[in-house]
Amino acid sequence: MVDLQSQYLKIKTEVNAGIQEVIDTTAFIKGGKVIDFQMQLESYLNVSHVIPVGNGTDALQIALMSLDLKPGDEVITPTFTFIATAEVVALLGLKPVLVDVDFGTFNISIESLKKAITPKTKAIVPVHLFGQNADMEAILSIAKENNLFVIEDACQSIGSVYTFSDGRKVQSGCMGDIGCTSFFPSKNLGCFGDGGAIFTNNDELAAKMRSIANHGMVVRYHHDVIGVNSRLDSIQAAVLEVKLNHLEEYSSSRLAAADFYDQAFAKNDKLITPTRSATSSHVFHQYTLKLNGINRPELQKFLANKGIPAMIYYPVPLHLQKAYQDERYTSGDFPIAEKLSDCVLSLPMHTELTKNQLEYITESVLEFVS
Ligand SMILES: *Cc1c(COP(=O)(O)O)cnc(C)c1O
Repeated sequence: MVDLQSQYLKIKTEVNAGIQEVIDTTAFIKGGKVIDFQMQLESYLNVSHVIPVGNGTDALQIALMSLDLKPGDEVITPTFTFIATAEVVALLGLKPVLVDVDFGTFNISIESLKKAITPKTKAIVPVHLFGQNADMEAILSIAKENNLFVIEDACQSIGSVYTFSDGRKVQSGCMGDIGCTSFFPSKNLGCFGDGGAIFTNNDELAAKMRSIANHGMVVRYHHDVIGVNSRLDSIQAAVLEVKLNHLEEYSSSRLAAADFYDQAFAKNDKLITPTRSATSSHVFHQYTLKLNGINRPELQKFLANKGIPAMIYYPVPLHLQKAYQDERYTSGDFPIAEKLSDCVLSLPMHTELTKNQLEYITESVLEFVS
């Protein structure tokens, strides 16, 4: 699905030098590289604060911890996403309220979101799934009307840009109160282990989240709030510093591969290509087809025999996950998410796909379909 090896070989000299520097200085935790990367990312995103943390899940958890929510407060999140989004809500004793998504873009359905708001709703966590921003203009307006926080899950969408109706262009994760991303190796900006970051333009929340990520501490060994231990290490920051310089070029490669797939499949009505939003650029963390009347396991097997991986993101929506079973939800409640889980198939998507590989993949898919 990804080719991290070829990507690494192209930047090997720079990356190795950065890692060696960390080893030579033995500044493994909170070293200069972490601050350098933080500032480089603040400038790339045009955001006031980047707070590097241990991973994307921690980023979401720390963001929620900073909002002073009470047990039972409701947090709305889409049911068609990776589990981390709802997991942290549940772990903090808050109530995950799930909503359906849009069939075309896979992102949170505005209609479904509006219906889910109650007097107990405190926050919305939209997920910019597969690399394309959700309808943030609508989400921010609903949040404002109802006095809700917005925490963007930008774990799959770093580098994607949203255009507001007044023409303002804002980076993914920098529109709501807080944005969260992950540097897991296969993410669009991936390091060589675990990593994540929080973004915000709110000085007060930034200070609070920095403290929470550091055991609730501002003055050493004085703990004002209950915190966690979550930090990006210097070796990961050294890798990310190099890779951030290539992020635009990485996003362009992904987009070019997606364009190739789109064109190859355009005329086939059994393959529904992903809808491009009019208000957001797409950085294609995943290229996800919707299969129309095709036997998905058979297609997957056919491709596997030709050496082509294809994955199902995500096979079970959150409301049907065993750990999240809840008397509020049953099968049929979120028909779009359920339909998507039954028909999606993601093809290989990364920065190093060659024309030959893309031709081989598309020809193989079409051979099965037609
Ligand atoms: C990857 C991912 C996360 C979690 O990130 P980790 O760094 O693996 O903890 C959260 N939400 C979404 C949508 C993701 O894709």
